[in-house]
Amino acid sequence: MNEVILIKLGEMVLKGLNRKTFEAALLKNIRRRLEHHGDFEIKVAQSTVYVIPHEGADLDAAADKVSKTFGIAAFSRACAIKKDMQAIMAAAEEYLRPELLAAKSFKVESKRADKSFPLQSPEISAALGEYLLEKFPNLHVDVHEPDLVVRVEVRDFGAYVHGPALRGAGGIPVGTGGNAAILISGGIDSPVAAWMMAKRGLELTAIHFASPPYTSERAEQKVVNLLTKVSEYAGRMTMFTVPFAHVQEEIMAKCPEELFTIIMRRFMMRVSEKIAEKEHCSALITGESLGQVASQTIQAIVCTDAAASMPVFRPLIGMDKTEIIAISRKIDTFDISIEPYEDCCTVFTPKHPRTRPEIGYILEAEQALDCEALIDECVAGVRLTKIHPTR
Ligand code: ATP
Ligand code: MG
Repeated sequence: MNEVILIKLGEMVLKGLNRKTFEAALLKNIRRRLEHHGDFEIKVAQSTVYVIPHEGADLDAAADKVSKTFGIAAFSRACAIKKDMQAIMAAAEEYLRPELLAAKSFKVESKRADKSFPLQSPEISAALGEYLLEKFPNLHVDVHEPDLVVRVEVRDFGAYVHGPALRGAGGIPVGTGGNAAILISGGIDSPVAAWMMAKRGLELTAIHFASPPYTSERAEQKVVNLLTKVSEYAGRMTMFTVPFAHVQEEIMAKCPEELFTIIMRRFMMRVSEKIAEKEHCSALITGESLGQVASQTIQAIVCTDAAASMPVFRPLIGMDKTEIIAISRKIDTFDISIEPYEDCCTVFTPKHPRTRPEIGYILEAEQALDCEALIDECVAGVRLTKIHPTR
């Protein structure tokens, strides 16, 4: 039996003129995701992508990768047969046997994309329905709320039989929206923010601030592990690790304690912007959510934003922690995020941070620092790590 994956395109179907570009990006992303799982033929026609395994290719792995590729509304594993009613009936009986035995009620839905096929869609459904009723005495037809919908598609390249489609990851293909830099900590929020923006088609570069000797190697490994999970959806990326301890020590020594966090965050923005520019990114992304902590009040965000001239995307800004956690569980980052290694933000925390900082007071406090030199020192000290999905 020839099993394939049929993929229905997402939002990109609506994109009119850009459609060809979007389809090409999606095909490229799917090919790349499947490259370590054997030899596949991957092609698109009539808003459907076909993933056809050759000898020895791993279709289970392919289905898992496809489920994590943005730009896909739905997909199904299907049995491919020649365009012949007898073949369709035999394939449905055999391919969907476990589902047909488990169900009490069913219906058949057919789609005839190839108009040269002699039977029309309702005729295909009637013929197959009748055949299956005879073969499976446990079944009756229920067109309103069936336990199982048997689907038949007669298309350009052949006929296909499958059960219910699975939901795809949605969104638009990574790479069609340009590049942006995600500021990634080891927390719950920033991996979710990365995932949300990759879903909108952005290709990501990751920037992580580490403060050895105050933070450990394991804290950094945790971030690599988080990004590896994100890359299952977002694709390969480069992580820039910025040595940040010296900046933090300088702020601690020379600025009012209550401004420590906000000034540190302004440094993160300035250093990130420099790296982002070099990497041809057009925006920064953070995992901030309004009111979550002292540095995420509207006044604090105004002061943080004032340090960067690039737009800062904050996809979690209006979300509750419970909503963010639900996504982090879905993308499998939650269990890593809650591992207890210290982040650079938590090693120096003021007892009483300013929740409503004013920009004038901050600019005055920053005069005590040689900001340009500190920023250049950070940029000069970055280390690169290549991140890619697990194989
Ligand atoms: P998270 O769960 O992502 O750590 P958080 O709620 O702990 O977020 P903060 O620590 O205030 O919030 O950080 C806000 C945002 O700043 C993070 O979502 C992330 O985008 C960025 N950020 C914080 N720490 C770092 C870091 N060490 N390296 C890079 N970016 C960071
Ligand atoms: Mg954090």
